[in-house]
Amino acid sequence: MPKYSPSNLNPRSPLVLDTRDLPRRPGAMRTVKRVAPAPADLGVELIGVPEGADLDLDLRLESVSEGVLVSGTISGPVRGECGRCLREINDSMVVNVQELYAYEDSTTDSTTDEDEVGRMQGDLIDLEPALRDAVVLTLPTNPLCREDCPGLCPECGVHWDDLPVDHSHQQIDPRWAGLSQLNRTEE
Ligand SMILES: [Zn+2]
Ligand SMILES: [Zn+2]
Repeated sequence: MPKYSPSNLNPRSPLVLDTRDLPRRPGAMRTVKRVAPAPADLGVELIGVPEGADLDLDLRLESVSEGVLVSGTISGPVRGECGRCLREINDSMVVNVQELYAYEDSTTDSTTDEDEVGRMQGDLIDLEPALRDAVVLTLPTNPLCREDCPGLCPECGVHWDDLPVDHSHQQIDPRWAGLSQLNRTEE
């Protein structure tokens, strides 16, 4: 059984790099600058790149003996929700990409795992998996609208920014008072 099915990458897909004009001679180089629409679900739970938003690719493709080294940056807008106060976050990100894609049937191809080193499919490189990995590593799992976001008052759910400094809830809910007594008797 062949190790790879024939390439099913579309060379015109914006996140597919075509290396046909890159000589397979170590040191040969090409740059790729283009704008690509963001694929769906690019990000983490609370923050990510909106689908279809402009991703700016600024990449360098370099022939090495066993394949093509892709390095550079991909930047784009991110939208999300503050993990403390749920306010909308509009920001931007720049991710660094550096990934080796081994030629089919090269030594690297036969001696490494696909998880360690990327693979070329013929002359094509699918950039999307590396982009997804880089984005997940770059974006915070607990994004904040600003570093010192005070969050919401746990009692009334109003943002601390919108409350007076001396805001407090003096009255203890009798149900909770009962509970704390219950805990004490259990001890
Ligand atoms: Zn916030
Ligand atoms: Zn409150």
